Amino acid sequence: MSGGLPDRASVVVVGAGYAGLTTALTLADAGVDVVVLEAADRPGGRVWSAPHPRAHAIDHGGQWVGPTQTRLLALADRFGCPRFPTHDEGVHLELWSDGSIHEGTSAQDSTAPGHAEYRQAVAELEALAARVDLDDPAATPDAERLDSTTVASWLATVPEAARPRLALAVQGVWAVEPRDLSLLHLAFYVASAGGWDQLMLTRGHAQDQRFVDGAQAPALAVAAHLGPRVHLGTPVRAVRGGGPAGYTVETDRGAVRADRVVVTTTPPAARAIAFDPPLPAARRRWLERSVMGDVAKIHLVYERPFWSDEGRSGQASLFTADDLPGVVFDNSPADGACGVLVAFVYGDRLRTWAALDDERRRASLLGTLGRLFGAEATRPVDLLVQDWVEDPWAGGAYAAVPAPGAWVEYGHRGWRTPRAGIHWAGSETSGVWHGYIDGAIRSGDRAAAEVLDALGVPNRGQEDR
Ligand SMILES: Cc1cc2nc3c(=O)[nH]c(=O)nc-3n(C[C@H](O)[C@H](O)[C@H](O)COP(=O)(O)OP(=O)(O)OC[C@H]3O[C@@H](n4cnc5c(N)ncnc54)[C@H](O)[C@@H]3O)c2cc1C
Repeated sequence: MSGGLPDRASVVVVGAGYAGLTTALTLADAGVDVVVLEAADRPGGRVWSAPHPRAHAIDHGGQWVGPTQTRLLALADRFGCPRFPTHDEGVHLELWSDGSIHEGTSAQDSTAPGHAEYRQAVAELEALAARVDLDDPAATPDAERLDSTTVASWLATVPEAARPRLALAVQGVWAVEPRDLSLLHLAFYVASAGGWDQLMLTRGHAQDQRFVDGAQAPALAVAAHLGPRVHLGTPVRAVRGGGPAGYTVETDRGAVRADRVVVTTTPPAARAIAFDPPLPAARRRWLERSVMGDVAKIHLVYERPFWSDEGRSGQASLFTADDLPGVVFDNSPADGACGVLVAFVYGDRLRTWAALDDERRRASLLGTLGRLFGAEATRPVDLLVQDWVEDPWAGGAYAAVPAPGAWVEYGHRGWRTPRAGIHWAGSETSGVWHGYIDGAIRSGDRAAAEVLDALGVPNRGQEDR
């Protein structure tokens, strides 16, 4: 990885996240001459597992995998990356805005206040999701009304008791506030995951398992397999040309000529690349209206998972909206060598929390964890913060959310349609598990299939959406 750049390749892939690595793997498997250009000094993109002396690996980005995320599971199996069940046993806590702490047996405890109203609203959402066209969400019946309704205005129509739970769910899964996304995008995302509970729940759902060596392990293995085809520390700045002469892909380390280019970055990172001639207007506008979420992931490392002494799972949901995290999970390593809690801070909470000075940020976080889990929670041996808003190559996380109206205005032509040798992959271009690692892999398979089709090379891999 990261040797001298070749002068030319048949295909240049921009980005070595899961989408770029999968695109390149499928092309390399088919015998195509492919080169991957990655800006950062590591592969994995929004998945980053940093080695830790006690916790083995800390997943600062994407981490969980569920049973229907079959592409990620298959990739992990191909490269021998073991998983283990997410720590989920014990009592889950809920901190309500009146300051009371409610104990439940699961994150979906039916005895929790507002639960029946919440399920009723979820049923309404599931009915909307069933109508969504996953290949062309803008073609969904009633798309214009759904895309001009924000989730905040929809929330105003559901029983009041359901709102805090739904608002936290939106903040937790999309890392934006309900005012920032349309009902069409919400319904599309739910459909793309195979249902609301798939997004929200742990056992048997999206949060089912973790990777023993961190979720970056399959990405590292693919990058190692691709070997000298992957060039790290190589930001792409411009893509010029096209037609029979092909493209010139300009980087900080020189230029590579290619017949086809597959761009797999987040929308803001794609916007930072100069395209000459310019991209079609629909694609430009789509990228401009695709806004990244705001999320920080904070890990607290302890000598041991002390919360399980009192039968607690380490999971908590916080239905408040000031400087606190939204949810907390037990993120201890598979071997139980130490205890790790992970707190997710997003949307308005992150804006408030990030504006505090370091000392007050720490005090606010530890004070909250102390209230939930006792005094021991206020004495971590390590505290690590990864604020994805500050990541120069992602520009935010977990994924981009199209502004209300964007699907009907530009989604049909702008979402992922290739143009004259420029193809698009990335989790944001997937119709299945959109926004997730599995979606990124599926998008890489789809983009590789487009390229193979154009080159007239048989495709031995999988393709859908
Ligand atoms: C905090 C957090 C928690 C998450 N939790 C989960 C989870 O539990 N499960 C799950 O499935 N998903 C989760 N996700 C989402 C998941 O990580 C992403 O959907 C997925 O990793 C996106 O992969 P990608 O290849 O589409 O994009 P990316 O991973 O963003 O890859 C794009 C690559 O392009 C590179 N790049 C950018 N600009 C340039 C340039 N100009 N030149 C060259 N390279 C460039 C970037 O450095 C990056 O490596 C989470 C994400 C975050 C951040």
